[in-house]
Amino acid sequence: CGIVGYIGDKDVYPILIQGLQRLEYRGYDSAGLAIYNDTLQVFKCKGRVSDLEKHVAEENISGQIGIGHTRWATHGEPNDRNAHPHTSMNGDFVLVHNGIIENYAELKSDLQKKGYTFQSDTDTEVLVNLIEYFYRNAEDVTAEIAVRLALSKVVGAYGIVVICKNEKDQLIAARKGSPLVIGIGKGEYFIASDATPIVNYTDSVIYLNDHDVAIINKGSITLKTVENNPVAFKITKVDMTI
Ligand code: GLU
Repeated sequence: CGIVGYIGDKDVYPILIQGLQRLEYRGYDSAGLAIYNDTLQVFKCKGRVSDLEKHVAEENISGQIGIGHTRWATHGEPNDRNAHPHTSMNGDFVLVHNGIIENYAELKSDLQKKGYTFQSDTDTEVLVNLIEYFYRNAEDVTAEIAVRLALSKVVGAYGIVVICKNEKDQLIAARKGSPLVIGIGKGEYFIASDATPIVNYTDSVIYLNDHDVAIINKGSITLKTVENNPVAFKITKVDMTI
């Protein structure tokens, strides 16, 4: 339902929580976030963003890269396990997803034949494991290539943001049928499913188009298609009074 992400030099936790609060108006049943700081820390629960804050309150978290999500369940009941972010079986990837993977059942049974097991009932967990499967099994593969390979097998709609544990200082975002906006700061980038979490920080944004994949590092951004063709992007100004 709602996505936020950040990569830069600021403390990411308050950016994620405030971003999720600004997306609450969309409606949701669960909330969660992942912060990357040498390890991937994931916190998620059924309920409100305020429940997530209580859940995280005792934890010692710090980091400057992270993703957050408010979920509106389509596959799997609203509960803690089904909340996003979802982590791949071996922990290489963590991902938030808006939309529906229509062919998830077929992809899931293929992955189960290859030994993959699942912790949730979501379509989303299938996608994060498919990315990891390609990452671990395709030739000469990077996180970005694994994401593109997995997306080329997906039927359905997605806005996703992915972190790979082995590729520090990088977020990968992609969209098809579910909006994503990237806010451009100074040596930092914000990602969200609409501009409301971003306008506090910057008015320069890139609206992703369907089939775009954005590879976002602290100081640079590259756009390409799922098929690996370069994409020229346009930076536009948003109204800061949203
Ligand atoms: N289909 C996914 C799920 O049920 C994502 C739902 C959403 O867009 O929040 O978990």
